[in-house]
Amino acid sequence: MNAAGRGHRPRKRFGQNFLRDPNYIRRIVAAIAPGSGDHCLEIGPGDGALTLPLAEAAGRLDCMEIDRDLAQRLETRFAGWENVRIYRRDILKFDLAELGENADELRVVGNLPYNISTPVLFRLLKMSHSITDMTIMLQREVVERMTAAPGNRNYGRLSVMLAYYCAAERLFPVPPEAFRPIPKVHSAVVRLVPHRQRPMQAADEDFFATVVRTSFGQRRKTLRNSLKSLAAAEVLERLPVDLAARPEQLGLADYVHISDAIAADKEK
Ligand code: SAM
Repeated sequence: MNAAGRGHRPRKRFGQNFLRDPNYIRRIVAAIAPGSGDHCLEIGPGDGALTLPLAEAAGRLDCMEIDRDLAQRLETRFAGWENVRIYRRDILKFDLAELGENADELRVVGNLPYNISTPVLFRLLKMSHSITDMTIMLQREVVERMTAAPGNRNYGRLSVMLAYYCAAERLFPVPPEAFRPIPKVHSAVVRLVPHRQRPMQAADEDFFATVVRTSFGQRRKTLRNSLKSLAAAEVLERLPVDLAARPEQLGLADYVHISDAIAADKEK
């Protein structure tokens, strides 16, 4: 156990499984390749397995840790480091604008707490205009859902929403034995790069998100059935897609077209 973690009893409610295997720590940091011109944001630094190598390489490192004890240990450990700031905060309640004026090219890093990984992802996607890239570790199944293509059994709401905001690349798996305590699940590292130029632009992004959520709400239903709650039957029949299809058969462009067509009809 490294020095900062000694004596800390891992808290399940905060999803605390700490990386211990030096090879995986090295591989993750190598995948990020932080540089002196980079502004990194680490979500959930925990007892600092990734924090130290990041702090040594990055021009600036902001860390967001919800656990007061761990945040306090990190504050003590990095007290003399001018490029490191520790925030005792909940990432789900933090506005990136608080990081200051130049926080618009953030490199986000984190071994995310699995119990809140989906809400954290959706929050980061909303802020993707301020983010250069994100290298994050998640439960393997979540990474499979993030990177799945239409037709795949893992393809769903997360795949479509991610494809809208960024390019996602699965980097490598990490076994449970790399952590302490050993988690019940397998993990994987994924890299997300927000599109500078979106391949598709929805006229109303909130409504687009609603269309995707509603479509996948009940995967076995056809689109005709799922979308009933969002538009009248005659509007649905005019949509540029096959309404007998199931949600996993449609790609990003289809969802944007559906969203735009229903939204345009509402404005009439
Ligand atoms: N990065 C460390 C590592 O790799 O060993 C710890 C990873 S552990 C899976 C997740 C970390 O996120 C814990 O330190 C936990 O306290 C912190 N955390 C959990 N929920 C959080 C939240 N809402 N905001 C910020 N940090 C959170």
